[in-house]
Amino acid sequence: QKILVSGANGYIAIWVVRTLLERGYSVRSTVRSADKGKHLKGVFKDYGDRHEITVIPDITKKGAFDEAVKDVVAVEHVASPVTLQADDPYELITPAVNGTLSILQSILDHGISVKRVVITSSCAAVVREDPEPLELNESDWNEQSLEILEEGGPRLTGLVKYRASKTLAEKAAWKFWEENKDRVGWDLVVINPPYVFGPIIHEVTTPSSLNASMLDWYNYVAHPTHNFESQEFLATRGSNFVDVRDLAEAHTLALEKEDAGSKRIIVSAGVWKWQDFIDAANALSPPPKLSKPLPKGNPGAGSSNPATVHMVRFNTDRAKQIFGIKYRSISDITKDVLADFESKHW
Ligand code: NDP
Repeated sequence: QKILVSGANGYIAIWVVRTLLERGYSVRSTVRSADKGKHLKGVFKDYGDRHEITVIPDITKKGAFDEAVKDVVAVEHVASPVTLQADDPYELITPAVNGTLSILQSILDHGISVKRVVITSSCAAVVREDPEPLELNESDWNEQSLEILEEGGPRLTGLVKYRASKTLAEKAAWKFWEENKDRVGWDLVVINPPYVFGPIIHEVTTPSSLNASMLDWYNYVAHPTHNFESQEFLATRGSNFVDVRDLAEAHTLALEKEDAGSKRIIVSAGVWKWQDFIDAANALSPPPKLSKPLPKGNPGAGSSNPATVHMVRFNTDRAKQIFGIKYRSISDITKDVLADFESKHW
């Protein structure tokens, strides 16, 4: 049973590929250039011809995935730009939306054996900013990012541009599916993760080339170089998290669980503040051997402080019911990531 995974050289997707291979599936990985496939090929060399790589230089092009979707039973569409530094919002929106529509159109036209399509959306497509703390679930949509996109101006930050790209891409996927569901042999599952942290197995030569979420983690927890490294910042800034390995497990279960069909599913382990990861790092015994001393911040001032406020929490009942994953904790992530950084001599 062969599964197509797009953007397979990325931080999350390579874990999806690995989990699928470990579970006995064959995988066709797509990357944008042959060069980007080299590391991937090396990582999975022991799987022989159960792992293959297809180069698709432009995922937004009509028919880009026509060949790649032939003979696969499912698709995991993970590729999408992740940066909070974009100038023009359409640098993000065009590949996010058109990449999604192009893969869906190829599946519609040529994916005759496809039974399920899983799309990696994000909690970026769920959240909104509000003066009051919120508890959100799968019925919530980030309309706020679309309103700000339309109005432009200073509220259209890099984060909002990214959130708009994920919201528009996910909306486009559901619309496409609604319009075509009566004539296709597959259903759609959308996974909405919050911040994803955990060890790195994709190609990263220097810390500065880390993917966006792990670059933040590196900067705040392992190598405090940032001006924001004030005690207050570390104790008050945070969001929700999931370990990359648990997220890869969710992507695999999303293929296997009948109940997942036609649902968006928030996959989140809970809330965090930077101080929580810093405390977990300082509690490690023996301490990790890194090239810089760990920050201390204000120990205990994060989530373990009863006065700490989390502006967004997610109701994760749906994921619990359908996937039943036992999530890795902040301590598990910290231990494994710092061991990974140590092995890289960072
Ligand atoms: P990475 O940056 O590590 O991976 C992104 C992948 O998408 C890469 O394969 C990249 O290819 C590909 N990609 C980026 N831009 C384009 C483009 N214009 N055309 C084609 N392919 C492109 O990020 P992550 O692994 O963190 O993210 C993967 C997915 O998970 C994304 O959909 C993201 O929105 C989602 N997500 C991530 C979260 C996180 O905290 N990391 C949280 C929630 C959702 P290339 O290497 O060639 O640029």
